Amino acid sequence: MIERDNLYLGGCLCGDIRYELKGPSLFEAQCCCKDCQKATGTGHTTIVGIHTSQLVISGSPSEYTNYGESGGTVTRHFCGKCAGRLYTSGSLPGEMIMVQAGSLDNPNAVEPTEVIYHKDAVNWDHFNPEIPTYELYAPFSDDTKAAMDKD
Ligand SMILES: [Zn+2]
Ligand SMILES: [Zn+2]
Repeated sequence: MIERDNLYLGGCLCGDIRYELKGPSLFEAQCCCKDCQKATGTGHTTIVGIHTSQLVISGSPSEYTNYGESGGTVTRHFCGKCAGRLYTSGSLPGEMIMVQAGSLDNPNAVEPTEVIYHKDAVNWDHFNPEIPTYELYAPFSDDTKAAMDKD
């Protein structure tokens, strides 16, 4: 798990964009939604939810924005040179962002505790049977709600 007060380093494939992520995570999840499949070219993406204030970026990520299933805008931030995915932000909820777990220098620090948007999962993708699986997503915890509210 991404622990409270610990600092984690990460960045894109070519190294033009680097970041520091301060724990703790609000959630760590496997997302199977169709947009994550298209955006990554894989069966699912592994995301670390944090408050926007917990991420410090050096470099200038490129952005792509579309509308998510929830109706709000979703913006994916990535390196314009190597196309490495970094994090996702959105209008719903605005103060929370989701970092791509694979962009961390030590991705093993992440331990996904849930599978979300499982309704879109492809039949060749497999998940830890010991963690909860949601057809859409789990209700937000009180901690997550509190973090989304503060700015
Ligand atoms: Zn890059
Ligand atoms: Zn997704």
